Order: sequence, then structure tokens, then C-alpha cells
Amino acid sequence: MSDVSDLSSDSAVYKTLLESTKAIPWKIDWATMKFAYIGPQIEALLGWSQDSWLSVEDWVTRMHSDDRDYAVNFCVSQSKAGVDHEVDYRALTKDNGYVWIRDVVHVVRKDDGEVDSLIGFMFDISERKKTEEKLLALQKELEALSFKDGLTGIANRRRFDATFELEWSSATKNGQPLSVIMLDVDLFKQYNDLYGHLEGDKCLTDIARTLGLGLAYPRDLVARYGGEEFVILLPETDAEGARKVAERCQRLIEKQGITHAQSPHAQRVTVSMGVGTVIPDAKISAADFVRDVDHQLYAAKQNGRNRIEFVA
Ligand code: GH3
Ligand code: MG
Ligand code: MG
Repeated sequence: MSDVSDLSSDSAVYKTLLESTKAIPWKIDWATMKFAYIGPQIEALLGWSQDSWLSVEDWVTRMHSDDRDYAVNFCVSQSKAGVDHEVDYRALTKDNGYVWIRDVVHVVRKDDGEVDSLIGFMFDISERKKTEEKLLALQKELEALSFKDGLTGIANRRRFDATFELEWSSATKNGQPLSVIMLDVDLFKQYNDLYGHLEGDKCLTDIARTLGLGLAYPRDLVARYGGEEFVILLPETDAEGARKVAERCQRLIEKQGITHAQSPHAQRVTVSMGVGTVIPDAKISAADFVRDVDHQLYAAKQNGRNRIEFVA
């Protein structure tokens, strides 16, 4: 390992400056691929002593295996091309931990243009990475929360709207049918009055879970549409398929048997449903289709509740 004497006539000053910064300076001789220099601060950061850094191999082996291919290949290709570059990777510490490093590399060339050496600085960016990771996790959590109904834990209206829009255009493109079921809990105001709002909340949560059991395919979606209304989206599902799902959901809720003393249907909580199927085209808008389904839900209420009505 040589000194920094080639840096300047004022080398003592430069050496002091370089070795008192947080960034760790280093130099690799291109012909031999050996370290000509590395700052002594490396030992405090990674635990490996200054004179244990002999060749580029030491740099490669003291790197997280998941980062190695990318970091090494990138540095080699950039260096060969004579391009200054930077790369982030996890460096292995002597006690088997990892520290996120950003290596900022300058390619030094000889007069004839050949690469002479690489000089650079290693920066400890672990704090920044931790913050980035926390922010990313938080962002994911927020995204999930903004599409989730707070009470029942199923998809919310916003999620339904977003998914419906996507499925509508996919069905339009592929000429596939798409079905929607809208449900409303029967006589739920009375349920709340009889058993209290908290029991009402529990009833809605139970119904949400039960509806989830009625769905068979991964693209099917059940969402809380509002208050005590739910909506089921069934992509690539024709009228017959939608009828089956609606009847299955009705049966499952019946089987659940939540007591409702004022219900005329065996004193159990029931739901009414409107069901519609469409192969979307220019003649019908998504909003009109949903309105048609909602009309059938209204008809189910008018016709006695605990019923399923279908868009003709
Ligand atoms: P219908 O059979 O015609 O649907 O009668 P209904 O009593 O269910 O209909 P209405 O729209 O009159 O009442 C809906 C009730 O749902 C009123 C409201 O207090 C209740 N509700 C809406 N959201 C919630 C909720 O989050 N929790 C509880 N406990 N009740 C809710
Ligand atoms: Mg309602
Ligand atoms: Mg209701």
C-alpha cells in the first residue's frame, strides 16, 4: 500500500484532509487491480483493517451476494468505457453485518487515453437507505389503506371504482361479458335500532366476510359500496355465472343466520340484490350500466326484499 504522496506537494495536508472526512477515499491501480490506497476510516466503518484491502478481489468478496453481480459488472463496464460513475451496494462488515455504501468513482486516464487508475470515495448511506425503506413501506401501507374499507377490511368504494374502470375497458377490448351485483342489507335501520350500532357494525363485517366466501375467481371483487351496501364485480362472467354467484351469496348469508327479530324472513338478516351483465360497447356507458343494476336492487326491495332481480 503506498502513500498519498502522489496527490500533491502538500501531501501531508491532503492526507490529513482525506483521512479526517467521513467519506473514505481509495485508489485502485488499473493494470494490477490492486489497492494503491484506502483511507484508514474503512476500519471504523466495516471492521476490516486498512492493510487488509489488497486487491479488487477484497472489494468484490466483501459485498452482499445479491448486489455483487450488478455492482461489479456496472463498475467494470463503466471503468472500461472510461466513464465516471457511482454505485450503491451493501458492504460486508467483519462481524457479518452489512452497511449500505455509495461508491463514487473517477476514472483516471494516461496521456494515451488508456485507463490508469480508479479513484473514488465510499460514502456510508445506510441512514439514507433506512429512511428510504421506511418511506417505501409507509407508502405501501398508505396505498393499501386508501383502498380498504376501515370497518370490514374488504375493498372500499374507491378500489371498486378503480377496478371497475379497468375491467370495463378490458371487457370492451376483448368483447367479454362483465357482471355486477349490488346488494343492500334488508331492514338494517331496524337492526341497528334493535341491537345497537356496534352490533350493526359487527353484522356488516360478518356479511362482508361471508360475501368473500361466495367468490370463486381471483379477479372477482367484493367491495363495500357505502353504509350497508356492497357491490360484487365479476369480470369475464356471463348472466348465468352471475346468477350462480348471487344465489350462492344469498344462501351463505342465510346459512350464517344472523338473528333479526323484526325480519319477516325467518327472523334472520337478509339482503336484496340487483344483478346485471353486459358486453360493453359504445352503446352503453359504465355509469348507465351501474344505474340499471341499482334499479334492479330497488326493484328487489319493492318486490318484498330477500330477493334477486336481474337486468333484462
Ligand atoms: P331497506 O331494506 O330498504 O334497505 O331498509 P334499511 O333499513 O336497510 O335501509 P335504510 O337505507 O333506511 O337504512 C340503512 C341503515 O344502515 C341506516 C344506517 O344507520 C345504517 N348504516 C349505514 N352504515 C352503517 C354502519 O357503518 N354501521 C352501522 N351499524 N349501521 C350503518
Ligand atoms: Mg341502503
Ligand atoms: Mg338496507
